[in-house]
Amino acid sequence: MTGRTFVTVGAGQTAAVAARTLRRRGFDGRIVLIGDEPHAPYQRPPLSKEFLSGTDTLESLQILPEDWRADNDVEVLTGAEVTRVDPAGRRVELAAAAPIQADAVLFATGGEPRSLPVPGPRPDLVHYLRTVDDAIALQRSLAAAGRLTIIGAGFIGLETAATARGLGIEVTVLEAAPVPLGSIIGQRLSAEMVRIHRDNGVDIRTGIAVSNLQTTADGVVLDCGDSGRLEAGAVLIGIGINPNTAVAAASGLQVDDGIVVDAQGRTSIPHIYAAGDVARRYSARAGRHVRFEHFDNANKQGAAAANAMLGRDAVNDDAPWFWSDQYDHNFQLLGEATDRTVIRGNPEANDFTAFYLDGDLLRGVFGANRGEDVMVGRELLGRRIERGVLEDEDADLWELVDAEEVAS
Ligand SMILES: Cc1cc2nc3c(=O)[nH]c(=O)nc-3n(C[C@H](O)[C@H](O)[C@H](O)COP(=O)(O)OP(=O)(O)OC[C@H]3O[C@@H](n4cnc5c(N)ncnc54)[C@H](O)[C@@H]3O)c2cc1C
Repeated sequence: MTGRTFVTVGAGQTAAVAARTLRRRGFDGRIVLIGDEPHAPYQRPPLSKEFLSGTDTLESLQILPEDWRADNDVEVLTGAEVTRVDPAGRRVELAAAAPIQADAVLFATGGEPRSLPVPGPRPDLVHYLRTVDDAIALQRSLAAAGRLTIIGAGFIGLETAATARGLGIEVTVLEAAPVPLGSIIGQRLSAEMVRIHRDNGVDIRTGIAVSNLQTTADGVVLDCGDSGRLEAGAVLIGIGINPNTAVAAASGLQVDDGIVVDAQGRTSIPHIYAAGDVARRYSARAGRHVRFEHFDNANKQGAAAANAMLGRDAVNDDAPWFWSDQYDHNFQLLGEATDRTVIRGNPEANDFTAFYLDGDLLRGVFGANRGEDVMVGRELLGRRIERGVLEDEDADLWELVDAEEVAS
């Protein structure tokens, strides 16, 4: 043992991957993951999908199973809230336990759903979806109410809509913007997402901003301003998350919609690092600081920060990538959306790829049930590609990758 202690604030995806990386890289000191949830680290993506539908269990979502933790001597403190890290004394202070001395600390505190005030006698009818306990509460409410109104047509809202429809629940989705996900996947693709949900029986209404909600003895009343009032059985609020930065700010770290870190995950204070949903990391690829709320980012940045804690340089600056499963469709977004979209395949059959161009430079790829196009797109990002080639189903895009390899 080196006698050093590494601590993570938060025990979610990022912290778990960091712990695994530390052990893989041979760190033989003490590792303590401190999480305020009553559970060891688990995967969140299935919470709106297979867990909500009842296919997955909490057991199957574990990231570091109990025997792995025992074999690798990784401690997980559950139900333990960190209140501050004292940088000078290198102490991690807890709300209800003695402080822990740490040689290095990784902030992996994730984010918390943006909320709305919920007055009235039945707050239990109004839900958020971030934790497994949120998912269990939502499941119960769906079974009892038989209908669900979702505020916000982001990915969490739309995935939940799809899962709820699969359970036979009547679903209404209210979105304040004129088109859902417009800023993320662009207007053209947004129209396809709306169509897919309508085809599956979701009542999706755009341009409707919920200004207020009030629970009653047996339901929820939504005040939608000029669009009137709506009655709901159960409600899910899915209007995005705020990064959990309060403890970082109280510890003297630089915070700006996330904890500001360099390309390696190092904060403004030596020996303190941050990664995952909470971190705003410098990206040379983007030429600015970026913050992503994706599973792949949590894994890659968790590993990069663990390497940095060991004094190794393992910067990851891949283009952002995430997936979303809705009904029996798999959607993937790589890179960034632009206004110039080229479609390959057949949108009506939900079998297509959208390539996002900036001039004729490829900036991003959205695949609907087309994982392979997204894979090849990763190799082609940043290259000039003729629109006609992208559109042409008979053109083998892998040949373009090979062509560059031959040239270089
Ligand atoms: C329902 C759902 C579905 C998703 N689906 C997808 C998907 O399909 N594809 C995709 O790419 N991504 C998806 N994501 C996003 C992905 O799960 C997140 O990007 C990932 O979980 C981020 O990991 P993290 O460790 O940074 O944060 P988190 O997983 O949020 O973990 C942070 C942990 O820190 C704890 N914490 C915070 N403050 C303190 C404190 N002071 N003391 C102690 N503990 C603290 C939190 O309670 C939490 O347990 C989904 C997320 C959700 C919620």
